[in-house]
Amino acid sequence: MRDILLVRYGEVFLKGQNRPFFMKKLTDHIKQAVRDVGGRVWLSEGRIYVSDFSDLETCIRRVTKVFGVHSVSPAVEMEKDDFEAICAQAVEMMRPFSGSFKVLARRSDKRYPLDSPAIMREAGGYILERLPQLTVDVNNPEHTLMIEIRDHAYLSVERFPAVEGMPMGTNGKACLLLSGGIDSPVAGFMIAKRGVELCCVHYHSFPYTSERAREKVLDLARLLSEYCGRMRVFVVPFTEIQMQIHQKCPENYTTLIMRRYMMRIAQILAERDGAQALITGESIGQVASQTMEALGCTDDVVSMPVFRPCIGMDKSEIIERAVRIGTFETSSLPYEDCCTVFTPKHPATHPRKALIAKAEEALDSEALIQAAIDGTEVVEVG
Ligand code: ATP
Ligand code: MG
Repeated sequence: MRDILLVRYGEVFLKGQNRPFFMKKLTDHIKQAVRDVGGRVWLSEGRIYVSDFSDLETCIRRVTKVFGVHSVSPAVEMEKDDFEAICAQAVEMMRPFSGSFKVLARRSDKRYPLDSPAIMREAGGYILERLPQLTVDVNNPEHTLMIEIRDHAYLSVERFPAVEGMPMGTNGKACLLLSGGIDSPVAGFMIAKRGVELCCVHYHSFPYTSERAREKVLDLARLLSEYCGRMRVFVVPFTEIQMQIHQKCPENYTTLIMRRYMMRIAQILAERDGAQALITGESIGQVASQTMEALGCTDDVVSMPVFRPCIGMDKSEIIERAVRIGTFETSSLPYEDCCTVFTPKHPATHPRKALIAKAEEALDSEALIQAAIDGTEVVEVG
């Protein structure tokens, strides 16, 4: 008899010929997630199991963050032949609980002498006799004891929901423009959840933005990497570009021009890192640079698709999501972002593309972009 972790995965993505590929990715990511607690991971008959771990809680926390995992249950694995021993173990597992319960049984070994209804009935009666604090409720129980008869018997009471989504790396790679704000980490999470690998680009404007602001963004990238695994963060020096824009371009267009440079540089770095799309945390109408026309102007300078998964979300919905994935607290730390440096008093909300392009002629774009890329620092997180 031993403790294991039973891992359930979403079935939807498992149809068709890609199944072995998806399953291999999923088990590899679970292995990676539990490597430092010594977990052994294996796949058998529609379940993934983790055993030999040194710390169950860490195991649960890590595995519930692996995209593609539906839920996990700490379970006891035991020999299936001695049904009395199974019932005795069931009693031990239910002992801490009071209130209503039911036994749910699943038998994939069809040669097993008891069928599922019999297992439920027998084990339920056995528990009820010995634990007077429990009552049976088959429709709406407070606790469910699961008994699965496979190669062994598996007993579990608790179930922890996981992130779901699709296994990381099964749907290409995209580059997240990561600021220190609330929205961009949520946007990255939402795309990564669909199995898309990430890399990140962050623009900083030292000395107008501090070392602490940079660290905050790297902390956000680390939080994301708990879901996405190891990734590269490109930290791009942006001061010179912002200064030049500030000096040479009409004030009401400075934010938009700055955003266009962010997109141009992100696309170059994305291509270099093998990413096929860009991700931003923009949402329609949230600020002046996120009006319909403004978004059109930023899209205009890149050829890659730009994913904006927060586009139709209210701020309150984005915050709710940030809280759930665990980035909200870090995002809320009060360090400055380069967007808040040189903010114009009256940013254009209905910009004209031709005027922006004209304004940008005052800048030596090629040299500015090249210098920013040459000065880029690459940080690996996760
Ligand atoms: P966030 O909450 O993510 O900062 P925001 O609502 O503050 O977003 P903006 O500051 O206008 O919006 O930025 C819009 C998007 O542009 C961000 O979601 C992010 O994808 C990108 N972005 C903004 N600043 C930076 C930066 N310094 N480095 C990288 N990307 C940035
Ligand atoms: Mg921001």
